[in-house]
Amino acid sequence: MMRLPHFTFHAPRDVREAADLLASAPPGSAMLVAGGTDLLPNMKRRQQVPSTLISLRQVASLREISNATGLTLGAGVTLTEVVRDIRARCTSSAQASKAYAGLWQAAAQVATPHLRNMGTIGGNLCLDTRCNYYDQNYEWRKAIDFCMKKDGETCWVALSSPRCLAVSSTDTAPALVALGAEVTLVSADGTRRLALSDLYRNDGIHYMTRQPNEILTSVHVPPLEGWRSTYWKLRRRGSFDFPVLSVAAAIKVAADGTVEAGRIVLGAVASRPIEVAGAAGALIGRPLDDEAIAAAAAATAQPAKPMDNTDFSLVWRKRVTRDFVAYALRELRGDDMREVRLKIARQLF
Ligand SMILES: Cc1cc2nc3c(=O)[nH]c(=O)nc-3n(C[C@H](O)[C@H](O)[C@H](O)COP(=O)(O)OP(=O)(O)OC[C@H]3O[C@@H](n4cnc5c(N)ncnc54)[C@H](O)[C@@H]3O)c2cc1C
Ligand code: SF4
Repeated sequence: MMRLPHFTFHAPRDVREAADLLASAPPGSAMLVAGGTDLLPNMKRRQQVPSTLISLRQVASLREISNATGLTLGAGVTLTEVVRDIRARCTSSAQASKAYAGLWQAAAQVATPHLRNMGTIGGNLCLDTRCNYYDQNYEWRKAIDFCMKKDGETCWVALSSPRCLAVSSTDTAPALVALGAEVTLVSADGTRRLALSDLYRNDGIHYMTRQPNEILTSVHVPPLEGWRSTYWKLRRRGSFDFPVLSVAAAIKVAADGTVEAGRIVLGAVASRPIEVAGAAGALIGRPLDDEAIAAAAAATAQPAKPMDNTDFSLVWRKRVTRDFVAYALRELRGDDMREVRLKIARQLF
């Protein structure tokens, strides 16, 4: 049985107290814990070994959801609550396809119901990057002399790589980037708000621009104003696994039926969600017909650079990226894609 290392535990009641605790801890010694569904297994495997844990579960303000302008979610809102809230706003399947559907589909496909009951939107956005050489127990990692991300020097995925190529595996980040979301970060020094896209770096170790003393307090999704969104996920076990490829797409269609604006974001192909501006650009000013969809899908082939450090063959994952982009756009066009989704969930590729 893997045991947690020893640590000091704090349970602050408000964000200010949490920020002060974070600021007063020696550099690198303290970590925040929300649902603990990622951090605690990582601590058991000694991938992360904070000597102090600051829990956010008692901070009531982080559990708030507001529909005043768009959708604002406190970082401590659980993924189950995200799914429930968006579902509650939809009275028909037609509405469901519009009301933040991409976020709903992404949150609903994270892990298992138990993990979604504990896991929070903030924890999901700050999720550690993943790699087959890193997500192993201590003895396994020691046997290969560790790796650059923790305790070692070499990247076993690309021996000459100067940086870690561990994979961004959060489901909700690509969906929220596609929806143009922003996040608020609070520290003892102040508050800042930034585009969610700017929270991420393409570096498997330093994958966030969040400072160590900052707490992600809320996620702001702008009003829909005609945007529609969707999320497609590839994984081995349809009810459990992390994504090894995901596609989040959001578009706004003008009254004449042409695409006015769009965002296409790939997940699990790099150390951060990758927005492919060229793919969305291929749609602008055109109706969402087969030709436009094929052009957008083709534009994602080059930026999708999966590495050989997650499940399935990387060549195949790269090849099916186009198919997944096409599925997402066809769904946004209104095609009935339930059969395709079912086949993917059952691995009938
Ligand atoms: C078997 C299994 C399957 C999983 N499958 C998936 C999957 O398919 N898709 C997926 O996306 N995830 C998956 N996960 C990972 C995890 O369950 C989810 O990502 C979950 O949303 C993490 O949220 P949490 O609140 O539990 O985060 P925690 O574990 O509490 O924290 C995760 C990280 O975020 C930091 N953090 C948490 N909250 C904040 C905050 N407010 N501000 C700043 N930093 C913060 C923590 O310090 C830590 O580094 C899986 C986990 C397991 C064990
Ligand atoms: S990509 Fe390389 S450095 Fe990063 S976790 Fe994997 S093996 Fe380690």
